Amino acid sequence: MITFEQLNLVEPILKALKAEGYTKPTPIQQQAIPVLLQGKDLLGCAQTGTGKTAAFAIPILQLLWQQPKTIDKGRRKIKALILTPTRELAIQIEESFTAYGKFTGLQQTVIYGGVSQHGQVDRLQRGIDILIATPGRLLDLMQQGYVHLSDIQFFVLDEADRMLDMGFVNDVKKVLAKLPRHRHSLFFSATMPPVIQKLADTILVNPIKVEVTPPSSTADTIVQKLYFVGKSDKRKLLIHLLEDDTIGNALVFTRTKHGADRVVKDLAVHGIHAAAIHGNKSQNARQAALSDFKLGKKRVLLATDIAARGIDIDELTHVINYELPNIPETYIHRIGRTGRAGANGIALSFCEEEEFEFLKDIQKLIGKQIPVEDAHPFPMQKTYNETAQLKNGHAPRQPAQGRTQNRRGHVTPKAATESKRRWFGRK
Ligand code: AMP
Repeated sequence: MITFEQLNLVEPILKALKAEGYTKPTPIQQQAIPVLLQGKDLLGCAQTGTGKTAAFAIPILQLLWQQPKTIDKGRRKIKALILTPTRELAIQIEESFTAYGKFTGLQQTVIYGGVSQHGQVDRLQRGIDILIATPGRLLDLMQQGYVHLSDIQFFVLDEADRMLDMGFVNDVKKVLAKLPRHRHSLFFSATMPPVIQKLADTILVNPIKVEVTPPSSTADTIVQKLYFVGKSDKRKLLIHLLEDDTIGNALVFTRTKHGADRVVKDLAVHGIHAAAIHGNKSQNARQAALSDFKLGKKRVLLATDIAARGIDIDELTHVINYELPNIPETYIHRIGRTGRAGANGIALSFCEEEEFEFLKDIQKLIGKQIPVEDAHPFPMQKTYNETAQLKNGHAPRQPAQGRTQNRRGHVTPKAATESKRRWFGRK
């Protein structure tokens, strides 16, 4: 087992980590900290929840602490900049720097939009070593002359894929243009599609790549259920389920931002209080939705995967996959929001015909079949097994003439004919 001591961390940091109750470094910390202490650029493929904040905060604090105290000649200058897409993440990162750096004497602050700039400017003017910022407010304060980036030695771009999703790429590029060319750069993203890789290439010099894969198993404390349901019936099924009071609160995942908004509207029509968080919402709107949900003012929170990342909700009873994710690891990540710290949680997943492939990948990854819940009023008219047979080149098993049920229940002969027509093109 690798310890923090073996990573050659200095005493004030080791002391702070002990105070935080950290006993050993997480995999990303084990991999990233030595590389960063050697002064190399880093490309980190990791999600929030892996300990990635400490993976970059600890070496930055250590390297800054080891510099001569006279480096600033007067007021402290900003030597490290961490750019992150949302206010919630920015606040969490600043708290981490404060915790890990509390015995180093280094100073940091956080700036984000949606609030008065007054207090932030005040803090900046007193001098800081480390700045954590969201892009819009940073550019704004740079333009007003309150932030200067010419002394930056460390630049961290956090959650790059989410930056892109939230439309911040041009802002990021404007910030990059103001950074000294000679610097130490770190780039983190949960996913690495080509466009993100391209952005990383423009920022990093000979980076070391560090990747931590999300866990491939699901906690035993989470009860999983699968609902086969037609696409157009998902809405009705969700409302039906939410009519049951045993669902204390639910985090509902959709694939798209638009889908999340639509479900909120549908639920409102039925008197169910819901809110959505996603990249199209302002930071204030997201923060308000989240705190309403945490306080129990809203029973349902709709989220897309990217927006939900990094958000910790205690006492979440249900996660509902309104749409299955196309990346199987995301399923594990989503349902892991419930059943935290040994508590029991329930994860319900809706699956329509077009999602059979996703289901197959998920079940392969978790190494088991998710138990199917048959007893609901909107069963799908084609079964997963029928589709599997079709893919294997066999004709689907049709219900016997006059039979009104298949093993999933409720397939009428008319529905069977309809299904046949769709699959074989017969009239
Ligand atoms: P992050 O991925 O940076 O958002 O971190 C996720 C959570 O893990 C945070 O609540 C951290 O405080 C916690 N954490 C980070 N590193 C460690 C560690 N080595 N041991 C225990 N907890 C940690």
